[in-house]
Amino acid sequence: MADSPEKRFSDCFDFSSDLSLYIHVPFCISKCAYCGFYSEPGCDASLIDSFTDKIVREISAVNEKRGHRPYDTAFIGGGNPGCLGPENLGRIAQAVCEIGRPAEFSTEMNPESLDRRFFPLFGKYFTRLSMGVQSLDQKALSFLGRNADLEQTRRGLALSQDLRKETGCVLNYDLITCLGPWHDALSDAREIVQGYAPEHMSVYALTLEEGTPLYRRNPDLPDSDEQYTILREVGSYLAANGYGHYEVSNYAKEGYRCVHNSRYWAYRQYMGLGPGAASTAFSADGKVTRINFRPSVRTWLEAGLFGGCDIEPLTETEACEELVFMGLRHKAGLDLNRLEGMARRDIDRERIRNLKGFREEGGFLVPDEDGLMTADAAALELIGALSDHGR
Ligand code: SF4
Repeated sequence: MADSPEKRFSDCFDFSSDLSLYIHVPFCISKCAYCGFYSEPGCDASLIDSFTDKIVREISAVNEKRGHRPYDTAFIGGGNPGCLGPENLGRIAQAVCEIGRPAEFSTEMNPESLDRRFFPLFGKYFTRLSMGVQSLDQKALSFLGRNADLEQTRRGLALSQDLRKETGCVLNYDLITCLGPWHDALSDAREIVQGYAPEHMSVYALTLEEGTPLYRRNPDLPDSDEQYTILREVGSYLAANGYGHYEVSNYAKEGYRCVHNSRYWAYRQYMGLGPGAASTAFSADGKVTRINFRPSVRTWLEAGLFGGCDIEPLTETEACEELVFMGLRHKAGLDLNRLEGMARRDIDRERIRNLKGFREEGGFLVPDEDGLMTADAAALELIGALSDHGR
């Protein structure tokens, strides 16, 4: 008899090792014009209830495998977890914490969704709130097709400040830059830092995702040199105000880096649940498996527990490439000994010492500011070095 989807899924993981949990909430109030992520617009109440019921059952099943060891970190993202409402979001958070509260537990939420009914969940479960602000310019919010207008965005920001005061949670705000010559990214960053002083900021350059309304509009966006200038300008401002640049798009005050995402970039074991979620599983004997739940909430609901996913064992080469791409994006750097162990061969260290923007330090290849900006190109170079050396 064929194994059940639950067994096929859980057999990929080493439950006795460290494990981070990501829950993908596939609902948004409406779709932003630039968004290529999977989510269902409209917040259908019965779909949300069914989603919550199933995800809670899946979390409980994983908890049983995990025993009494809390997840190292957990993150509820999306989509917009605010669409679930406090009751359903609380049920999911409670299920995650059934085996103990993770040391860091984040939820995303859009500004228009935050209200005081969510506050008790922060004292009890969540330690961080990540809010998609994107801009404090009404023209930019309209250009991006955001659901929240400027007034709602400011209201959400003010509420998040109350939330921090009342619960001690850590705040992250996301900003999108590189919208065009008319947009002043530095002014957004300045207003956020001076007015709201989050502990953490994520700053992205807008990219045109095929199939989105913005892609079809084909606006005139900054080229890569202009993007570099804009991102460096915003980054310098943040650095001057105490935010360390620790990943391509992420900045944090001392002690407030996102541990969950840092574990992801360090290529640690990572379980994703929910339609569209991805996992990287490491079995006890060292095999690496990528698991992707298909991006359709209705298909996901029809499939049994842990059904509706594609399970793809990675070859050594694929796993090494992932390790390299993740490691070079992050100031913690790429663990060269781990890479050599996974690749089962030595790396041409002389060749990597010549990589511009990186230095070798304590067995790690660590990016400087320029390296963070050119991480993907450097990863390709390093992967080339790895395969040439294997010949
Ligand atoms: S809120 Fe986030 S996930 Fe939802 S459509 Fe907008 S960008 Fe996409």
